[in-house]
Amino acid sequence: MTHPPCPFCAADPDETDEWLLVTRLAQSKLWLSKNQTYRGHCSLVFLGRHVERLDDLDGSEFQRFVVDLRSSLQAVRHAFAPDHVNVEMLGNVVRHLHAHVIPRYQDDPRWGQAIWMTDASQMPVTKLPRAELEARVAQLRAALA
Ligand SMILES: [Zn+2]
Repeated sequence: MTHPPCPFCAADPDETDEWLLVTRLAQSKLWLSKNQTYRGHCSLVFLGRHVERLDDLDGSEFQRFVVDLRSSLQAVRHAFAPDHVNVEMLGNVVRHLHAHVIPRYQDDPRWGQAIWMTDASQMPVTKLPRAELEARVAQLRAALA
């Protein structure tokens, strides 16, 4: 099976149709999803070169990425006070190392389950007004500061 060119390596935008950049960390970029069904849903994308999985990293890359992941988890917990946080590293759609950081709430649509249990087209979509989305980015930046 062949895969299209890596979208994370092909361009370096601050925003896409689906994601808004929060910040650059030591070895990654943290993005906020524009689908806010899970309040504070982020993705941490490995930065520096194309790799597919954690086992592709050398020791120092691994250490910096995991520290970035911990910082992201702490920021999400501080900013949004979820009941739980999932970290999902699947790579089934985009084969570039990234981790979804998904705050979970007892009243969310799939509490107690993974959020991706059906085709992505069946995911509930929650779009926010721009100002509210940017306020969430600001909350995360403040929590990371
Ligand atoms: Zn890549």
